[in-house]
Amino acid sequence: MRSRSGFNLTPSPLEGEGLGWGDSKFARQHGLITLLEQKKCFKLICGAGNQNLEEIEKLVALYAKAGCRFFDLAADEEVLKAAQKGLDFAIPKEDQKNYHFCISIGTKGDRHVQKAQIDSEKCIGCGKCVEICPQGAIKETESRVGSLTHQYQIEQQCKVGILAHQYEVIEKNCIGCMKCQKGCKNNAISFTPHPNFYGLRARLELLPLPQGARVNLLTSHFSPLTCIELHASDTDEDEVDEIWDYLNKNFDGMLSLCIGRQKLTDEQVLNRIKRLVEKRKPYTTIIQADGTPMSGGEDDFQTTLPAVEMGALVQTLHLPLYLMLSGGTNSKTAALAKQKNVDINGVAVGSYARKIVKEYIQRKDFWKNKAIFEEAVLYIKPLINYKN
Ligand code: SF4
Ligand code: SF4
Repeated sequence: MRSRSGFNLTPSPLEGEGLGWGDSKFARQHGLITLLEQKKCFKLICGAGNQNLEEIEKLVALYAKAGCRFFDLAADEEVLKAAQKGLDFAIPKEDQKNYHFCISIGTKGDRHVQKAQIDSEKCIGCGKCVEICPQGAIKETESRVGSLTHQYQIEQQCKVGILAHQYEVIEKNCIGCMKCQKGCKNNAISFTPHPNFYGLRARLELLPLPQGARVNLLTSHFSPLTCIELHASDTDEDEVDEIWDYLNKNFDGMLSLCIGRQKLTDEQVLNRIKRLVEKRKPYTTIIQADGTPMSGGEDDFQTTLPAVEMGALVQTLHLPLYLMLSGGTNSKTAALAKQKNVDINGVAVGSYARKIVKEYIQRKDFWKNKAIFEEAVLYIKPLINYKN
């Protein structure tokens, strides 16, 4: 048993006996635990609601090749297949043992499971949201036919020389970041939770087997799936407990709790973490301290500060858990955490990680141009191999 700064002396699964992790069926978990214990764990967040298969396949291929071992994915069969294809492209099958997939679900009100919708009655077609959306999830539609009232508005706009456009959200590409809503002056964008991604209605029975059968995701042994993440930053404690208890009972891998304080007080956050972690065996839970969800994109200290502060709050609990940071994370996160004495096991990066490879991913010759692929891999390596 060795001490770790900020946490108690409960033995980790790699150190302790009788914690149920020694069976061969848990062998893959040991790989994930090792990554966490080394305090160098980098997780690529593809997006809890991201169903853009082409993007996911390319992201996983690039980041796996660059050294990333841990991938956060939407709980969607096609997404898992796309991620596996990306992994197969980058890493030979026989070397995939220590690569880990985490699927994300959420509580109904959590931002990560929301999808944007545009109200055509309120939209004036300014196009601002298209410029803002980091996922290319808003497109102009063919039809401009709306209600009479709206049609009248369009005609009036045309008369005064404003070109009237209509826009809609490509649901599979939307990650619920809400950037479009902040940029819309006409209050035309609202959000609803995607029914497949929240609560126990989330599609947990989706796992494809080679022979085409489907099995329960929670009890399966789909090789890279070693973690399930619950996004639980909403206020309904009963809903959080219900989902967590179900996962705790039915899934024998790592559970991750992604939690932030946009809707919760510090006391509520700490009480929730304490209650949920204490239901688990020591070091079978990751707390992903979520600074400002999906706010990344800029590579500066200010952007990542909320994530580090959230990590500092979690650290005060001294519980036997692994601590990762997300929500505004970037290449500065680990250094800032060290500066603030926040002892992290890893960093999960989404918006920033996707942004820095966007131009590569959009290239038509992505899969064929080896030089470009290798250039992108070299470019992202420093983000994955962060220094702290
Ligand atoms: S920003 Fe708002 S008003 Fe402008 S196109 Fe988008 S939804 Fe319509
Ligand atoms: S919520 Fe984010 S990803 Fe979805 S449409 Fe708006 S800006 Fe794009």
